[in-house]
Amino acid sequence: MVNLLDYDVDGLVAWFAELGEKPFRARQVMRWMHREGCDDFERMTDVAKSLRARLADTACIRAPQPLRDSVSADGTRKWLLDVGNGNAVETVFIPETSRGTLCVSSQAGCALDCAFCSTGKQGFNRNLSAAEIIGQLWLANRLLGAAREQAADLEAGEADNGRIISNVVMMGMGEPLANFDNVVTALRLMLDDHAYGLSRRRVTVSTSGIVPAMDRLRDECPVALAVSLHASNDALRDRLVPINQKYPLAELMAACRRYLERAPRDFVTFEYVMLDGVNDRDEHARELIALVREVPCKFNLIPFNPFPNAGFERSPVERIRRFAGMLNDAGIVTTTRKTRGEDVDAACGQLAGQVLDKTRRTVRLVNSKEAR
Ligand code: SAH
Ligand code: SF4
Repeated sequence: MVNLLDYDVDGLVAWFAELGEKPFRARQVMRWMHREGCDDFERMTDVAKSLRARLADTACIRAPQPLRDSVSADGTRKWLLDVGNGNAVETVFIPETSRGTLCVSSQAGCALDCAFCSTGKQGFNRNLSAAEIIGQLWLANRLLGAAREQAADLEAGEADNGRIISNVVMMGMGEPLANFDNVVTALRLMLDDHAYGLSRRRVTVSTSGIVPAMDRLRDECPVALAVSLHASNDALRDRLVPINQKYPLAELMAACRRYLERAPRDFVTFEYVMLDGVNDRDEHARELIALVREVPCKFNLIPFNPFPNAGFERSPVERIRRFAGMLNDAGIVTTTRKTRGEDVDAACGQLAGQVLDKTRRTVRLVNSKEAR
């Protein structure tokens, strides 16, 4: 069975051509799938009956199944999704007054092993397929009851912010640029008017800084870019974000400048996790200001979200305020990320796909939570 969620529009057109079907048929099915959230060929009433029957024999529309659905006191909603073989990934919906953001995962686990990241600590399992990536948006739309409204919005040509999910950030589990092809297929669907029709400015890829893949993204599918900086010099970043040993800061800054030549926004967002006593001193702020001098950017400070045995503490509020103040005073727009969904472990870096409840690691995790 071919899962049609694996195809972007060009891919589906090519697959339909093999069946001897015209491109417009592929686009029709695309709209049913993504705009209507439909997974039943029988319901695709404007598709010829014979084609519907053929599709039902050879293809399916299948997103990952939710294992758990948690709603935080602040309205943040987190789904734990089964991706087979005891692996699970998480998708988080963050409602705000003027927008709704879906935080999407790209891998089960992550190989890059950043020192402060719970996903990194669980190691790498595998890349998600394009269907598993776009399936998170497909499913969230459906579960939030948004698919129909979105279709109506698109018909009416309304602004993105009329939708329940108006923004997507590739900031869930995994390093999106380490699963390049499948992520780009999913990004194309997010952007395509036959599917989700989001603007490039409202789709963000967050990367720990895989330089050659940043160049490829710029050439093949430029969207808004966030870079996980987290340190102001190579010695510190080598330790916190080990991929820095391969692509050090000077190369990363140059890649950011190249990206901006084609990016839909005229700045890069630098994410910076605030670790008490590690990267949050005045001298780090001063070093950062010098480091990013030639890169148009904004900073997003992320108060560290703790997890058991992390070995780091969150910087105190006053420290974060002072750090942000120093960057702002140097003319760098700096915001501090509000921590959302902490009570359901949906905050940045807390996503760990805790389906592995049977393992001792998670038993420890559960125990230490009870001890809190
Ligand atoms: N792999 C990509 C995207 C996923 S992580 C990346 O690293 O950019 C999204 C953001 O959360 C990244 O900036 C990441 O460094 C940060 N993060 C990871 N662990 C965290 C933690 N425990 N507390 C706060 N932020 C964390
Ligand atoms: Fe992977 Fe990003 Fe976590 Fe680093 S911060 S281990 S790149 S998910």
